[in-house]
Order: sequence, then structure tokens, then C-alpha cells
Amino acid sequence: MKKILPLLKPILLSCSVICFCLFSTEAVAQDRFAKVEITTERINDSLFVLKGAGGNIGLSIGADGVFMIDDQYGPLSEKIKAAIAKLTKDKVKYLINTHWHGDHTGGNENFSADGAIIFAHENVYKRMSTDQLMKAFGRKVPASPAGALPMISFASDLHFNLNGEAILAFHLHNAHTDGDAAVYFTKSNVIHMGDTYFQNRFPFIDLSSGGSVDGLLKSINQVLFLIDDETVVIPGHGSLSTKKEMTAYRDVIMTVRDRVKMAIAKGMSLEEIQAANPSKEFDETWGSGFIKPAKFIDTIYTDLTKDQVAATEEKEKE
Ligand SMILES: [Zn+2]
Repeated sequence: MKKILPLLKPILLSCSVICFCLFSTEAVAQDRFAKVEITTERINDSLFVLKGAGGNIGLSIGADGVFMIDDQYGPLSEKIKAAIAKLTKDKVKYLINTHWHGDHTGGNENFSADGAIIFAHENVYKRMSTDQLMKAFGRKVPASPAGALPMISFASDLHFNLNGEAILAFHLHNAHTDGDAAVYFTKSNVIHMGDTYFQNRFPFIDLSSGGSVDGLLKSINQVLFLIDDETVVIPGHGSLSTKKEMTAYRDVIMTVRDRVKMAIAKGMSLEEIQAANPSKEFDETWGSGFIKPAKFIDTIYTDLTKDQVAATEEKEKE
């Protein structure tokens, strides 16, 4: 035993370090969610927005039951349920995911266990049911458990007639991801944009999940055509917004996209373009969120040069 002890020592030590790290990571995550408070904002008699951590939650409450858009992170489900209980005695009956990211679908399993039927675009189901890699952050996301998966998926659009109005969920092609949906409450004139819209911030475009700069711009234009000056726009992240603000968002993205495109045509490298700072007049406000200016430029550059890169890689193989 005496001989074995010195050999065991580093193993025991490394085990305790790993255990401590795992425990502390878990503890940090728990602590992070423990501090989160869910706030409720009323839009009209039947529509609400809940905020906590993660994507904005949309809520329609009425005679037909509770219809919810997105559900943030799993550890927040009890708090979200408590916030809903202050508005109605009913549980969530219908739940729609605007896309597959965990800050919008993390509570799926908990709400499904409570009887909610989950809807989403078919690519949300595909991505949630298989392991994913979010290349922009080098983050591996394991497949979700069966209980978290959408039960009903759609390819193009889906109509609900609930709580006194037609609610139209429609797919936005290759925008933030390849499974985005916007949800439009036609009578209330309120639209939830999911993460195709970050209010007053540069967008996060998840290229490895099928998102694209041009797809995002097309999607925003499509929605701008549909809504009017009175529409209340619920962004994926940020405060309640308007058509005017979303038009400014479209213009910022388009301006920076065009400048990066021109720089690529001149043969500039990513580093040279970042140094030339093509988003400079927008950075102070629009670059102060989750996506910093350098990351935004990187995303546009990577997206616009992907065909070129693929062709070069193909040639090298030959
Ligand atoms: Zn997202």
C-alpha cells in the first residue's frame, strides 16, 4: 500500500481538482439562475412579454388557454410558471419555439411534462434531436432529451386560431438559423421575431446552424413589408420595438454588409477589414451587446467568402 500511495496521490489530486471544477461550474450556473427574476410586461388585454435570462417570452392568455413563444433556460421554468400563475390559473397549453437555441428552448422538457404541446419549424426538430456544434463559439451542444423535442413541426407556416385572433407562425429562411419562425398576432398587431431581431444591437447570425447575412436581411424585409407603424415588435433580445427601429436595424446590417463585400472584392483579408473598421459609426450603440464589432465583421466575412473557401478546399483535394 505504501508503494501504491505515492502513485495514487496525483490521481486523487487530479480527481479532486476535476470534481471541484465540475462542482464549481455547476454552482456558478445554479447561482446565475438563482439571481434571475422574471419580469412581466403587458402589451394588451391578452398579450404579455416575460423577461428573465435568455430570449424574450411571448404569452397569449385567453379563453382557449395559454399560448407561449419560447421558454428560456430549464432552471428558470419554475420561476416562469410562477410569473404565469400571477396572470392566469391555466398552465401553458401551446408552446412554439422560434428556433433551436438553448436560451429559447431550455424549458421545453419542463413545460411538456406539464402538458404543453410544442410546435417548431422542422429544422428545429432536426437540430435539437442531434448533437450540434456552434462554430462561432466552438461550443458543442448535445442532442436534447426526447421530452424536450417539438411534437408538431412545420415546413412553411402554421395558423392558430386562439384567444380571439388568428396567430400566424411563419418560417424565415436561413436568417439567424435555418429554423427561424416569426409569430404574428394579426388582430393585436404584435409580432415576435425570435433572434432574427436583436433590438439596437448587431445580430448574432449562427452560420453553422444555417444562418446567413443575406437570409437575415431578406427576412427582415419580408416582415417590414407585413407590419405597419402601429405594430408592436417583440425582439428575440432587447426591449419592445417598432417598425422604425427594425428598419434602422436592417439599414445598419445592410451598410456594413456592403462595405465588407466591397473590401473583399478589393482583396482585403479579414484582419485588414477589421482594422479598417467598416462599422465604426455604429459600434458604440450597436456593438455594445453580445456581438462585438469584430465578431460581426468576422461573421459577414466568413459568410460572404464561404463559397470561395469551399472552392479552394475542393481544388486542393484534386
Ligand atoms: Zn438564438
